[in-house]
Amino acid sequence: MKTEDITRTWYDYFAAKGHERVPSSSLVSPDPSVLFTIAGMVPFIPYFLGTETPPYQRAVSVQKCIRTADIEEVGKTARHGTFFQMCGNFSFGDYFKERAIPMAWELLTTPVEGDPQTGLRGYGLDPERLWVTVYQDDDEAYTIWRDVVGVPEARIQRFGPEDNYWNTGQPGPGGPCSEIYFDRGPAYGRDGGPAADETRFIEIWNLVFMEFRLSAVRSKSDFDVAGPLQHKNIDTGLGLERLAMVLQGVENMYETDQVRPVLDRAAELAGVEYTSTEDPQDPHHSTDVRLRMIADHVRSALMLISDGVRPSNEAGGFVLRRLIRRVILGMRLMGVEEPVFADLIAVSQQAMKGVYPEVETEFDTIRQVAVKEEQAFLRTISAGTAKLDHAVSDAQSQNRPLSGADAFALHDTYGFPIDLTLEMAAEAGVTVDEEQFRALMAEQRDRARADAKGKKSGHADTEVYRQIRGDRPTQFTGYTAHSSQSRV
Ligand code: ATP
Ligand code: MG
Ligand code: MG
Ligand code: MG
Repeated sequence: MKTEDITRTWYDYFAAKGHERVPSSSLVSPDPSVLFTIAGMVPFIPYFLGTETPPYQRAVSVQKCIRTADIEEVGKTARHGTFFQMCGNFSFGDYFKERAIPMAWELLTTPVEGDPQTGLRGYGLDPERLWVTVYQDDDEAYTIWRDVVGVPEARIQRFGPEDNYWNTGQPGPGGPCSEIYFDRGPAYGRDGGPAADETRFIEIWNLVFMEFRLSAVRSKSDFDVAGPLQHKNIDTGLGLERLAMVLQGVENMYETDQVRPVLDRAAELAGVEYTSTEDPQDPHHSTDVRLRMIADHVRSALMLISDGVRPSNEAGGFVLRRLIRRVILGMRLMGVEEPVFADLIAVSQQAMKGVYPEVETEFDTIRQVAVKEEQAFLRTISAGTAKLDHAVSDAQSQNRPLSGADAFALHDTYGFPIDLTLEMAAEAGVTVDEEQFRALMAEQRDRARADAKGKKSGHADTEVYRQIRGDRPTQFTGYTAHSSQSRV
């Protein structure tokens, strides 16, 4: 099933259940407290908060999302993209979990060709391979899963607030959630459900039951429930790429039809083979991770530029710059020193234009933005390379590591990234004093912070730095995170 077909079935199913079809909002979040749209619910925040009256009570969408907090996971896990699409169904004070749970199950398990009675099409997943989690105290959800849907108790697990309680990080709406996982099979890890293994059991869908008013939120697991919300809401998010990976029978989201062509082209340009390994011990692993990262980041760059983001040193522009640079570095570390962006982004455009026609109509502009950024970075790299060669040969002749001060100067003066310094030094058999490098970076950060104190600082700036550092945004995180996100 192609990603486009998965989307069509999604819309058709929820339209048949009375949901208004709402087009994806921009990746640039309409809410100033978050930089990017990180979940399907972001465009609906005013409806959930009750500050605006929704024009419909039920909505269905497939929302473009960016999660920079997941950047270090990309290519290493099977399931984390910086760009991905979140399919969602929403109820604003209309149905609640008694309908949301059976609908989710029905859609996942109804045959692809359609149910003979209702005519509704689904995704045809084997019910025996689905596991569900509920919040520890949510007996109501537990009972619906067990008695209405018929999931055996052995495949229902109770999780604590870290995993299965959603809130915005500040006083406001909150509530328990329930998640659906797909069992990829014994080849992928231990038995025992998502509690035992999140690689084998892959999270595909999160159902949030927004029903309480929280008066204080001190942490994910420490909050005060003030009482019920006036209206109970439903907010769900299913990862389109994760479902596509399951339905297409591929190993990870980077091998699905919207992403794989870029991966293949990158491998071709680099003259390397992609072997699909997830095993860090495998000698092909680092190349495979690199190719997956490149495929992901090229697509994210395409979609960000298409939504009006431009490379810069601030906020969203910096995220885009970083994504483009990581692609160029990744290619370089596989031996490609020529420009690659025009080529790769054209391949990504071909894979995405069916769903997002604007990436085709605006392609000239998109390509120019990316290519210009690449040219500037390649100039930086060649200036830095001369300086690095010097520093490396000094270190070699004195039989010492390359100093943290040199690595820092390369970074600071030439914008030369530490990954590249490490890799190129390693090729010459030289190590780098990383500890000193990090100390100098920290000092610089502290200085910048002290400087910024007096000046007024834009929220978006601090937000992007938090996102880049991998911290969770303080507001509207959208969904609860599992360990993988908090590990970042
Ligand atoms: P995980 O624990 O796997 O990191 P999550 O709990 O952070 O996922 P949610 O915040 O619950 O994810 O988001 C709802 C759904 O969106 C997830 O169930 C998943 O299918 C999808 N999703 C979340 N993050 C990503 C990502 N980085 N790439 C692709 N899909 C994602
Ligand atoms: Mg989740
Ligand atoms: Mg999770
Ligand atoms: Mg996560």
